[in-house]
Amino acid sequence: MEDIEGLRQKLAMANRILVNEHLTELGRGHVVYKLAEDRILIPGHLHDYQRSIADCTASDIVTIDYKGNVVEGRYPESMHEFFFYSAMFRRRKDLKAALHMHAFYSNLLAMSGENLLFSSRDSFLFTKGFKVYSGLPLFVNTEKMGEDMADLLGDRDILLHRGHGVFMVGRSIEEVVTRAAAFERAAFKSYCLRAIGKYFEYTRDEIESSESEEIRSELQESDWGYFLTRVEKKGTIL
Ligand SMILES: [Zn+2]
Repeated sequence: MEDIEGLRQKLAMANRILVNEHLTELGRGHVVYKLAEDRILIPGHLHDYQRSIADCTASDIVTIDYKGNVVEGRYPESMHEFFFYSAMFRRRKDLKAALHMHAFYSNLLAMSGENLLFSSRDSFLFTKGFKVYSGLPLFVNTEKMGEDMADLLGDRDILLHRGHGVFMVGRSIEEVVTRAAAFERAAFKSYCLRAIGKYFEYTRDEIESSESEEIRSELQESDWGYFLTRVEKKGTIL
């Protein structure tokens, strides 16, 4: 049995990290966790109370079912976009966490139709690439839209909704947060290199033959610790 209160605390921290690391504009977006089949931990709809994930606490986390009904927690509604999460969690049993953010440089990739440049370590996690969804409106408001996005994403982990934001799925809260931060850094560097007009890239083969699960998990652990420390220094109260 998982420690639900511990998960709520970790998830609240993960949500704060998105803002603290400047990974999202205007406090939009969120990190969620699949507690069990048909049960997702997600922040309540804080925007209705002039709040955001910037000061998210464990008590702001609610449990919803795959239809978005709050089954536990002190808010009548959760953050939106759950139609996409539900569709992904139904399809892929390996997934435990997901994330949405309005990340500036990542968004530029979708808006310009460009790819990441494989010039630095930040981009090495993304040799499988990403998908771009271009439907309107610029938020996920129906079950069909969530299903369409999930169909497009398939077995990949990153979907960019053009003009809106990034959706990422993964095996843990730590994984989606650290990968989202790496993706945004890689997008920023790609943008700068294209502005310089000259750059070197590693090939996919070079990257895939030199990277290992061990290296990735060590980096993930140290990035997560770094983000956590920076949030804690701001006096976060759980
Ligand atoms: Zn959004």
